[in-house]
Amino acid sequence: MSDKQKFLKVAINVPIDQLFDYLPNGEPFSIGQYVTIPFGRRKLIGVIYGISLHSHIHPSKLKSVIKVDPEVIFDTQMLKLLTFVSEYYHYPIGQTIMSVVPSRLKNNLNQLRQYELIYQATEKLTKEFINQLPARQLRIRKVAEAILISDMRQTDVMKLVSNWSDCVHKLEIYGCLKSKIYEPKEEVSKVEIPSLNDEQKAVINAIKNKKGYQASLIFGITGSGKTEVYMQLIEQILKESNAQALILVPEINLTPQLENRFRTRFPTKKLVSLHSHLTDIERLDNWRKAKSGEARIIIGTRLAIFTPMPFIKIIIIDEEHDMSFKQQDGLRYHARDVAMVRAKNSNIPIVLGTATPSLESWHNATRLDNKYNFLKLSFRAVKEASLPKIQTILVNDKTKNGISRALVDAINDRLKRKEQSLIFINRRGFAPTLFCSSCSWTAECKRCSSKLVVHQKTNRLKCHHCGHDQNIINQCPICASMGLRPLGSGTQKVEEALNKLFPNASILRVDKDTTRTKKSLTLLHDRMNNREIDILVGTQMLAKGHDFPFLTLVGILDADNALYSPDYRAPEKLFSQLMQVSGRAGRSNIAGEVLIQTVFPHNPVFEGVKKHNYEIFAQTLLQEREQMGLPPFSFTAILRVESKQLKYCEQFINDAAKYAESLSNKVVIYDPVRPSIERLKGYERFQLFIQANARKDLQNLLKQWTAYLRQYHLANRVKWSIDVDPLEF
Ligand SMILES: [Zn+2]
Ligand SMILES: [Zn+2]
Repeated sequence: MSDKQKFLKVAINVPIDQLFDYLPNGEPFSIGQYVTIPFGRRKLIGVIYGISLHSHIHPSKLKSVIKVDPEVIFDTQMLKLLTFVSEYYHYPIGQTIMSVVPSRLKNNLNQLRQYELIYQATEKLTKEFINQLPARQLRIRKVAEAILISDMRQTDVMKLVSNWSDCVHKLEIYGCLKSKIYEPKEEVSKVEIPSLNDEQKAVINAIKNKKGYQASLIFGITGSGKTEVYMQLIEQILKESNAQALILVPEINLTPQLENRFRTRFPTKKLVSLHSHLTDIERLDNWRKAKSGEARIIIGTRLAIFTPMPFIKIIIIDEEHDMSFKQQDGLRYHARDVAMVRAKNSNIPIVLGTATPSLESWHNATRLDNKYNFLKLSFRAVKEASLPKIQTILVNDKTKNGISRALVDAINDRLKRKEQSLIFINRRGFAPTLFCSSCSWTAECKRCSSKLVVHQKTNRLKCHHCGHDQNIINQCPICASMGLRPLGSGTQKVEEALNKLFPNASILRVDKDTTRTKKSLTLLHDRMNNREIDILVGTQMLAKGHDFPFLTLVGILDADNALYSPDYRAPEKLFSQLMQVSGRAGRSNIAGEVLIQTVFPHNPVFEGVKKHNYEIFAQTLLQEREQMGLPPFSFTAILRVESKQLKYCEQFINDAAKYAESLSNKVVIYDPVRPSIERLKGYERFQLFIQANARKDLQNLLKQWTAYLRQYHLANRVKWSIDVDPLEF
């Protein structure tokens, strides 16, 4: 008798939440491998999710897979995690699996090596040889010239030219190249390891003395030496052979400085980074190094939580409160929350660190049952550095250029002392809107319900939501008045005002318009450290992770905006942002000063920031949340719907609300509302907020609800999505 018929349960990248049955094609197969399959008239890539002896479909009606890729991409642990993620965030399993792999793997275009080659020149490769190559063989010449100077790793050749493999192949045929497997040299760290203060030692001992899964929250003020604690923890854990460590940081924090700090500390430990600034090839390469166990330390942003790491022994999440850990489209997961599940599944410690914990983590760490280990770092690690002095300055409409006298005086003091100042305004462009002083018309985007931002220098009006871009107009389209003027201020206008106030100072603006690459940020650091710059004007880009030793003054211009926000998380976000910006002042031995301009100097956010006291602020906010029944005391989700046609949007959301109400009386279904940007990129938008006291009730409802919505007759006419534990409204 032959073996029993087996069926492959394949996960495919399609918006249908089910597995698809296929027959094996004779090639050996196992769970977690890629397969090429026929799907309708197309050929698609899928993943073998399961192998079964049963199928609801008769074998004669099933198709066979076309090809099985020999490499196992997902181990069972990873598939278990992804199954949880798919179910928790109500996102189809195939799309969930496919959205976490590097894009090269997604399209199966890789066919990449399991090892890396290094290319060396043979005696045949000479200057004369290169000179006689036909001029049109530009790329080959380029590769040959580079290899003539020094041996080259495959990854470096890839970065040098497109179609690199052809070039290498030709040169091999000419007999100019030989290759061997690249083996990195083991380097020895020469860095002197700083000694820790008692608090830091206590934190490390508390974490390392417990075995297995445990979550710890390190609540440490800016400058208290959290990174040093992470590094020493990792050092101790990596002493185990093969152990791997995963560190997640917000995208904006993964600066070259941070990466270098880890690299110089762990040169022998093979560190790789995973973030959006890598090329597809680099990303896949680093991913593979993590998967093979070759890389021992992986430092990455949100998506890195799904990196396959067979020997993972610890997960660290720096700045755990940061909103960028939550994905805002497609698979809307929260990397911190997924990390918790991964740590539990792998039975390893997870460490969260921040100066301003999210209220969720604060609640978990301080509540009676001690869900998290609560660890404090309350001293600055560098003894000379004291906390910056934070003050509010009362401003009003008459404040000239939006910059108060007190701030001007403070900047002048810094200029005299050859110290640096940072002026922070979280809005780029010249002015947030163009306004007609005769009829009050304002310039709005045609595709979004938002104002167009004035960019004076380039003479453009831009929509910061959809990228719409047009010439500035001089005449009002409604009343034909020529009295159009920019209203409010952004970074460009502040820069202009500062240039007038301090004509001899060197002023630099740093925002998305001036600073697009990591390299320009590195350059900025050099110029700041050489004191070539006196005043920096910038957005949130400058708020985090940058240490400038001669910067002693921070001025914050538009903090009040957040106080008008309808988002109940706004005070929490503002507090952490203010703390982070303040942390830029006086990091070395010069005391720092922070001046916050506001109309509401006695707002609890500012009172808390002035005292550097997050604890009291967090407790107060938590009490408020408890009284109002908001997270973390309840569980929420949002249904978002958009369509070019308002009527489909309305009908869909109203019917969805009605159906949800019929499903459970334990979940509160709010009225459908329009989000603050009602129309975006030409799409009308609606959303529906739902809330429950128990996570289980919310999840039960979401399961039935999404199943219903997927086959609802208008589902093809609108774009809709479910956001579980949303952070934005
Ligand atoms: Zn007008
Ligand atoms: Zn727009």
